[in-house]
Parts: sequence; structure tokens; C-alpha cells
Amino acid sequence: MRIQRWFVCLALFTSVLQLRAQDSNVVLVIHGGAASRRDKINTPEWERLSREGLKAAIQKGYEVYKKGGSSLDMIEASIRLMEDNPVFNAGKGAVFTLQGKNELDSSIMEGRGLKAGAVAGVTVVKNPISAARAVMEKSKHVLLVSEGANTFARENGLEIVDPSYFRTEPRWQELQEYLAKPKDRAKITQPHDGMWSTVGAVARDANGDLAAGTSTGGMAYKRWGRVGDSPIIGAGTYADNEAAGISATGHGEFFIRYAVTHDIVALMKYKGLSVQDAAKEVINKKLKVAGGEGGVICLDKNGTVANAFNTDGLFRAHVTRDGTITVKLFKE
Ligand code: ASP
Repeated sequence: MRIQRWFVCLALFTSVLQLRAQDSNVVLVIHGGAASRRDKINTPEWERLSREGLKAAIQKGYEVYKKGGSSLDMIEASIRLMEDNPVFNAGKGAVFTLQGKNELDSSIMEGRGLKAGAVAGVTVVKNPISAARAVMEKSKHVLLVSEGANTFARENGLEIVDPSYFRTEPRWQELQEYLAKPKDRAKITQPHDGMWSTVGAVARDANGDLAAGTSTGGMAYKRWGRVGDSPIIGAGTYADNEAAGISATGHGEFFIRYAVTHDIVALMKYKGLSVQDAAKEVINKKLKVAGGEGGVICLDKNGTVANAFNTDGLFRAHVTRDGTITVKLFKE
């Protein structure tokens, strides 16, 4: 009896160790936004499509890894696929502003030289993550906005679409329902009901270089011209080879005010916290106390994956060096 128990303990211990080892062998982690179970849009069908979308995107990024692609190539490939997928609030499928337009934000950062690029309020760029990368690699700037960013993307040969390309029926209906609410109710309702579906990715390539990126349509019913955290380096996206790469999702105003992704990196570098502890400290303590909803995905310099969210869920997936894929939506 005793020996049997001993064996069970040993087996459990070994599987925990194996799990740990796998989790620190991660080459790519992605997210499809923070989620609330109370959100109407969060149907079983939506969850199924999100799972499928995450799986396809992580596979895409992993293929790039297998071919020896850089961490920037990996995250760009994964994010582009999610931008093209109407289930996510990025690229096609973006939420609408209160004025019925789609205004997209995105950013990218690499951890070796701390170079970064971002676009905000773009309306005709099919894949904003590629525009963010072009800003990083082909301009002297970090952040370009609205018409200036649209023009820059056009000049640099990125795919340009008519603004109507981004429109999808569920997102349009979501806005119509919001507008149909009595004025006083519409005013007190949160700018979003809790389902964000923004996308992001963090990768670590064979050279050990980290990169992170985020892409979004922003918060539903936002005022036109509003810019969230996603294109703000240090708020929605950060990468530093000395610590970790991070992409965030949630109520952007809070993520900007609390400089969330940079704060996590700072806690790791200056206080020596592990990536998981740093992420929890910021998301489950600082942000939660402040009332900021959302979460982050992280990948540290050793390939250890971590996440933290103070919402019901964070749609996420990661893949290890050997190609093992894990997809999770809620607190599983
Ligand atoms: N953080 C994004 C924003 O505030 C929204 C999201 O994550 O879904 O624009």
C-alpha cells in the first residue's frame, strides 16, 4: 500500500516536472482577447471559432519558427492570420466606433535593440501589424496615426482596402443595439461589455530574441479618434531580451495609466520577480484594485510562458519547441 502511494506521488511529481519543462520550452504564445462569460457575443459557437482561430494562428507562427524565421516574423504571421479572421476584434471583424467606423491600432517591438513601431486610428490598412512593423523598420519614428499612418502604409506597399472591408454583421449589430438603448442607459453602460477579442503574440526565436505585438479595433463604441493601449509601447506591448515579451488586452485606458507591459518587465528587471509573479502582481493586484479589467500573455527570456487576467477568461494558446500546442479560453 505504502509503495503504491509512493509510486503515485512519484508519477505526479514527474508529470508536474514535465509540464514545467514544456512550459519553459515555449517559442510562441498568442492571445485572442480577454473575455467575460456575461457577454452576449460569447456563445459556444463563438468559443469554437475562437479556439479554431487561435489554433490556426499558432500553427502559422510555428511554421515560421520551423523554417528558421525570426521572432518578429513569427508574431507577424500569427497576428496577420488573426487580423484576417472576423472572429477577432482586429483587422476584419474590428469593433465600431460610436460613429460607425473601424479605427485600428497596432504595435510591435523587438527585445534585442528595443526597437518599436506602431500605428493608431488606421482605416484602410488590411494588416495593421505589418504597418506597425514597417514603421519600426522603415521610418525614423515609433508611432504614426490616422491619415499619416494610412499614407505611410500605402507608400510602403502594404495592402490597402476600402474601409468597408472591416465591417462584419455581428459587430455592426452590436453597435446598433448599443445605440438603440435609452440615452441614460447607454451613458452608464461600460464602453464595452467585457468581451474584447483583441489579438497579440509574443515569440522567442532560435537566437533567443524576443518580440511582441498587439493588434485591435479598440473598445467597442469608442469615441472616434480614441487611441487605446494596444499601439502604446509600454502599455499594450513590450519586449526586452533581458526580461520578457508581453502583449496585453483589456480596458486600454487603465493599461496606459498603469504602463502595464513595461511595469511587468520593470518588476522582473529591478525586483527580480519571475515572469508569472510580475504578471500577477500587476494584473491581479495593481490593476484589479484600480478597477482595470483585462490580462496579459508573457514569454520570458528563457522561454517560460506566463499569463494573468482578472476577467473570466483570456483566449490564449502557446506552442513549445517540439510543436506541442495548448489552447485555453477560461480558467482551466
Ligand atoms: N486594449 C484594447 C483597447 O483598449 C481593447 C482590447 O484589448 O480588446 O483598445
